[in-house]
Amino acid sequence: MSAGTTAVRDSVRPVLAAAVAAGLAVVLSAQAPRANLLLITLDTVRADHLGSYGDKQAATPVLDRLAREGVRFADATSHAPITGPAHAGILSGVYPARFGVRDNAATPLPPETFTLAEGLKGSGYRTGAFIGAFILDRAYGFDQGFDRFDSRFDRFDTRAKLSAERPAASVVEPAVAWIKELPSGQPFFAWIHLYDAHAPYTPPAPFNTTFRARPYDGEIAAVDRAIGTAITALEARGLLDRTLVVAIGDHGESLGEHGEDEHGVFLYDSVLRIPWVMRLPGRERAGTVIREQVRAIDLMPTLLELLNVAVPKGLDGESLVAVVRGRARQDPPPAYAETYYPKLHFGWSELRSVRVGDWKFIEAPRSELYALRTDAAERANVAATQGGLASRLNAELTGVASGWSAAPARQAPAPDRETLERLRSLGYVGFAAPSGAAGRGADPKDMVAKLRSFRQLVTDAAADLKNGRPAAAAGKLKQALAINERAYDVHIALGDVYMESQQHEQALGEYEAAALLNPGSADPLLAAASALLAEGKADAATRKIAEAEGVEPLSHEIPFARGRVSEQMGRDAEALAHYDRAVAANPSDARARARLANVAIRLDKVDVAATQFNALLAAGYQPARTHFGLGWVAEARGDRAAAAREYRRALALDPGLTGAQKALSRLEGKR
Ligand SMILES: [Zn+2]
Repeated sequence: MSAGTTAVRDSVRPVLAAAVAAGLAVVLSAQAPRANLLLITLDTVRADHLGSYGDKQAATPVLDRLAREGVRFADATSHAPITGPAHAGILSGVYPARFGVRDNAATPLPPETFTLAEGLKGSGYRTGAFIGAFILDRAYGFDQGFDRFDSRFDRFDTRAKLSAERPAASVVEPAVAWIKELPSGQPFFAWIHLYDAHAPYTPPAPFNTTFRARPYDGEIAAVDRAIGTAITALEARGLLDRTLVVAIGDHGESLGEHGEDEHGVFLYDSVLRIPWVMRLPGRERAGTVIREQVRAIDLMPTLLELLNVAVPKGLDGESLVAVVRGRARQDPPPAYAETYYPKLHFGWSELRSVRVGDWKFIEAPRSELYALRTDAAERANVAATQGGLASRLNAELTGVASGWSAAPARQAPAPDRETLERLRSLGYVGFAAPSGAAGRGADPKDMVAKLRSFRQLVTDAAADLKNGRPAAAAGKLKQALAINERAYDVHIALGDVYMESQQHEQALGEYEAAALLNPGSADPLLAAASALLAEGKADAATRKIAEAEGVEPLSHEIPFARGRVSEQMGRDAEALAHYDRAVAANPSDARARARLANVAIRLDKVDVAATQFNALLAAGYQPARTHFGLGWVAEARGDRAAAAREYRRALALDPGLTGAQKALSRLEGKR
């Protein structure tokens, strides 16, 4: 048995041993009250930036305490370097590619997936989720099995939905409140997702000053502090020793290694190695460090078994309970990972990897092999000199992924003649063929040097657009496409610029290009629908929306787009119903609430309008217009004094709001 496959007890004290035995009994006895589960997912947190994983400069006392009083997995690894697919595997115990989940905010986790929350709810747990980023919202299937799903994002903007987040303290607060309100006697499962360590790194005080030179670590310190609030709340209620507390990373962060600043492009350990610590009820196995390789997909079966809930068959992950209790495995299973982010966002090749024992093989246009034991930084590619080992690992990788052909990632339908002509007129020829036929794409490691300038052009273009310079924005986006014609996000951005300047036909071409490049995202189809609607082609827009629904059936943008079509066709009652569904699907969508309120005004549905305007006011969305709307509500209810008050508030915020001026003088004239 090598050191790599040995469970090592860091410290065993006699007093603790008794507590350990008692804890074991609590977990295993069906008669004893069942343990609660607090699962914390640490977004973008590298294992080696925590104190318990050896970072002496880290400020992570709470996570370090959980490790000290619990079990720490020293070599835990993720199956995907991006949030959505990483969490899909953590919560299901299944490689997310089986479901076609290969990107953020795209193809959702299908409803038939059996999740950790469903397993626990089915055996009597109260379940609550508290989410830090929109990419894990209901629309992507992450609410399955939760009684309560808390995902409110202030200032939510659909066009910037990938960056919609809320700070750790704002996620933990409702979670703690929920736990406090629960009736005693019924076990709970709370999932808290903390997104702060994701770029941009802007830690709150005091970490913005104490970590001025290392803001990424400042964000991790803030995450740790927020977890401390939850732990303190559990202790105050006497629940900590009756709760299984787990913190696991979804993926790491490259921080410049291998030429990547953030994550998604590569499969090196800087992004695949994750922290995983868990404090068991009664501090069972306190101080244990597991050194053999474990996988994020092993989390779900491990937690179910620890909580005495039946583990479903057919998972890719396996329970680590025996390993936790000191029985190291002879031959830990291979860890598979993949990233389609380079393919879907840049048109480069996807990457797949397998980690077996001390080796990692990365399958790429130019494949890589690293001896992790001696080359943890993955600098020396020995694929050429160790060809036999490389091909054995390649076969292993193919074996893991072999059953997945039944559920391939979605393929774009072949473009029709009209689409092809539009693409040619824009100068796009290369990718007009159906996806897949255009070949594998460049090796990401050959392209990453251009990534910074590419991203800079896109960032600068966004600033140009924001500052009313659409022509300059278009120029920069075209430069970015010259670097990389297959970047679907850039085609969407360029389409949006054309929309701003009423060039609907060109916009449509860009959106169609994007749809061919990333068939797993509904965004290009919905954008195309709005371009068609702007051209007055409601039927064609409706067809695009139906296509989008096939890709992301749960998205709030589907009913929103339908509402726009109905409104344009003068069918207000129908529009009202669509907007109502959009608001239910995403209560943070202020734009849908505002549309719903305005249609409600036209239909004289005073209560509907009042509810929406009050919600908009609470969210701080366009306060002048919202007070104006509340004035209308008050007037419709016959309360002229309140109406005048609301109109004056609207005018105080925006003196140029002519509708409010007219309404106020009409009211005062009537006096
Ligand atoms: Zn993430």
